[in-house]
Amino acid sequence: MRVSQLGEFGLIERLKEILQSGLIGDDTAPVQVGGQTLLLTCDVLVQDRHFKLAYPPSAIGWKAISVNVSDIVANGGEPLYALVSLVLPDMEVSYLEELYHGIKRACDFYRCEVVGGNISRGDELCIDVFMLGKTERFVGRRGAREGEGLFVSGTLGDSKAGLELLLMERKSYEPFELTLIERHLRPTARIDLCKHVSRYASASMDLSDGLSSDAYKLAQASGVRLNLFPDRIPLSQELLAFCKKHRKEPLQYALSGGEDYQLLFTQPVERLNPFLSMVQIGVVEKGQGVYLAGVPIEPEGFDHFRVV
Ligand SMILES: [Mg+2]
Repeated sequence: MRVSQLGEFGLIERLKEILQSGLIGDDTAPVQVGGQTLLLTCDVLVQDRHFKLAYPPSAIGWKAISVNVSDIVANGGEPLYALVSLVLPDMEVSYLEELYHGIKRACDFYRCEVVGGNISRGDELCIDVFMLGKTERFVGRRGAREGEGLFVSGTLGDSKAGLELLLMERKSYEPFELTLIERHLRPTARIDLCKHVSRYASASMDLSDGLSSDAYKLAQASGVRLNLFPDRIPLSQELLAFCKKHRKEPLQYALSGGEDYQLLFTQPVERLNPFLSMVQIGVVEKGQGVYLAGVPIEPEGFDHFRVV
């Protein structure tokens, strides 16, 4: 059987069976070291899969750090240290310096530090980041309880719209289009929410594959049903303008668009903090799966090996 027949998530299940670790299954692995909970995660960006060489290299560096920080804050942690492994063909040194300026800028912003790495030659550029964080209280995907609210930060679907705009390779873009492109190229991890998640959330993950498929994973891990309110899903003015111009359905972008790097979490509804970026988009119910206004929906996010 080929990986394309099994799918990314089917493959993960097979590998988990071999490894037999109870710590696999969340955005980070929580490990106990010297009485402290440390969070471990890694994420790789691959040329022509996650980015094109024509993108600004500093944005690629920023994103490589941000996607890892996103996993750590999703579990209620703060980033500490990172290692960067580079696979690269023979290429301009100035390109890689620019990439590392982006990495450094992101580390300064999130207050973490790259403390080493590894370089190998290969056919295409890959940036793999391993990151270490710490938390007072680990919050994974398994703790959602019936009667709680489902919350999300920021706005959803912007990154997918930004990617589609980038792929149009137009000579010029309107200001709202540039905002969407920026959201795709330089996502910002929700470091502003890590303390709130650690204190109050019962289950949490970041949105990297799209709301419908990520909500499905959270529902499955917690053994609950998530019922979403479609009119409460936060959409940006820029996404609405994009959808109007291109005759697209904004809710579809919010449900299936990946790489928003917003947080999806559950908590008692009274824990809503109006001073932080969060809105309630649904409720946790008894049962299983994900429902949109009472109607079951299928996960339709991103799978690296799904054949379409
Ligand atoms: Mg994640």
